[in-house]
Amino acid sequence: MIYGVFSDVHANYDALRTVLKHLHSFRPEGYLCCGDLVGYGPQPNECVELCFALPNFRCVIGNHDMSVLDRLPVAWFNSCAAEAIAFTIKTLSPKARSLLETMPLSLDFGDITLVHGSPRNPAEEYLLTGEQFLENADFWKTQVCFVGHSHVPLAMSRAGEKFPEVTALRHGEKILLEPRARYIFNPGSVGQPRDRNNRASCGIFDTEARTFEIFRLEYKVQKTQELMRRRGLSELLIERLGNGW
Ligand code: ZN
Repeated sequence: MIYGVFSDVHANYDALRTVLKHLHSFRPEGYLCCGDLVGYGPQPNECVELCFALPNFRCVIGNHDMSVLDRLPVAWFNSCAAEAIAFTIKTLSPKARSLLETMPLSLDFGDITLVHGSPRNPAEEYLLTGEQFLENADFWKTQVCFVGHSHVPLAMSRAGEKFPEVTALRHGEKILLEPRARYIFNPGSVGQPRDRNNRASCGIFDTEARTFEIFRLEYKVQKTQELMRRRGLSELLIERLGNGW
């Protein structure tokens, strides 16, 4: 089965459409998303509705989605993020809100687990190191776990009792899964990349070929920035999008 994998859309509709167009060319039978459909960006309703129209769309809830639904205190966020959450609450349609409410904290099916942050703390932990891989090892049971939240495309793997390896993934990099190793993959962020590369990030997971491949795609960053400005979102967030940070 081929899955399109993405995360952290953050209401960036142009980036989302670019990513979905690319993933569609692989004819995926399903789509996996690690949460944060909204927050930061200018078009939350369009993003939520487009994602939920995808075939076999499976998505877990992210910390921004939770805060918009009043399940995580706004005090958790910095002031720019909190401002964007207030904008999202004001803008969100009843339909988009009810779709966000269907998203669970974690999902596992077949050989795949989905969480936003980490298996032990799906709403908050930024999973970035080999130590964290070990600390999380008993909190998920499948061979592969997809996470988001850090907005950095990463492959983490552990074969047997070895210390986990952590690799930052670049465009076109393809990981071949070893049968006995375990993996945590972060597909990076669609709508707000944070690895000093402003291209939208996504991946393809092929369960038969046992591969995960990352793609970085150019989209009209300025168009999203202009829309953010018109909607009164903070200059810091606008600038950040251009810098990929
Ligand atoms: Zn996020």
